[in-house]
Amino acid sequence: MHTQLQDTLSLEIFPPKTSEGMTKLKGAVTKLNTLKPLYFSCTYGAGGSTRERTFETVTWLREQGIETAPHLACIGSGKDEIHDIVEHYATQGISRLVALRGDLPSGMGRPDRGTFRYASELVSYLREEYGARFHIEVAAYPEFHPQAASATADLEHFKHKVACGADSAITQYFFNADAYFAFLELCAQQGISVPVIPGIMPITNYSQLARFSDACGAEIPRWIRRRLEAFGEDRASIRAFGHEVILKLCERLLSGGAPGLHFYTMNQAGPTLALCRDLGIAPTAGADAAAA
Ligand code: FAD
Repeated sequence: MHTQLQDTLSLEIFPPKTSEGMTKLKGAVTKLNTLKPLYFSCTYGAGGSTRERTFETVTWLREQGIETAPHLACIGSGKDEIHDIVEHYATQGISRLVALRGDLPSGMGRPDRGTFRYASELVSYLREEYGARFHIEVAAYPEFHPQAASATADLEHFKHKVACGADSAITQYFFNADAYFAFLELCAQQGISVPVIPGIMPITNYSQLARFSDACGAEIPRWIRRRLEAFGEDRASIRAFGHEVILKLCERLLSGGAPGLHFYTMNQAGPTLALCRDLGIAPTAGADAAAA
């Protein structure tokens, strides 16, 4: 049983594009909140592309009394814009931020328009301006960032980002537990001691997963890819197989000492609730029905 995991469980959502999506998200969050996670995090589109929608989502979460960690992506934004956003969050009692570089959506201008080139520069700025006011999470890449010149360079950049003031890190999702444990070893060798929480992507849809994974550099092991391909449009089999794969991954991560789990919920309650249920993370009444 991993009931103590609730203290380090976090759930990521994204700001919906439509009012229908917002209604669905509110329903999903209400169900997911029965897990009593440490916090929900909400993504932010670099260059301010989701600014108002992220604000709307974060405001709703705060109105529900939910601990919220807004993501803040700095590429393509000036210092004044970042300052205004952080001030806005400070007035909402936000005490946790996920500080990122982000990737500018195509057509959103040149990356050098912004003040900050890398997440480490954003972290430094937040520490200089706000001291210890925020718990700062950053991104980590057990399979290395796709744009990194080399694994060694990426690790050095991660070390620098942490030294700039990050409190902890959340990883890009991965399906190979060895990649995570090898990354932790490298971090330990480099004297990086902040908690590195594995990011977990439930598997529910093969084509979407393949697209995301190609874009973010997460490897889908061949045996998983081939099994998923073979299911074709059979969504129930994809979900059942995906559940088993991710459940085993989570169990291995936790038994190997992972300091928590961060679920990329994709704004859906069912897959994450079912995984948490089978991991023994005790939900409050009502979650079992929601996961069914
Ligand atoms: P950085 O840490 O700045 O690293 C980016 C690249 O630059 C790496 O290759 C690194 O090795 C290299 N680098 C770093 N410092 C230097 C340096 N000094 N010199 C040369 N190279 C350097 N994206 C969004 O747009 N919005 C979100 O809400 C969002 N949420 C995310 C949440 C998590 C948990 C994760 C893992 C990713 C998220 N992303 C999000 C995606 C992320 O923004 C992209 O992966 C982006 O490409 C890198 O962001 P970063 O903060 O990791 O960048």
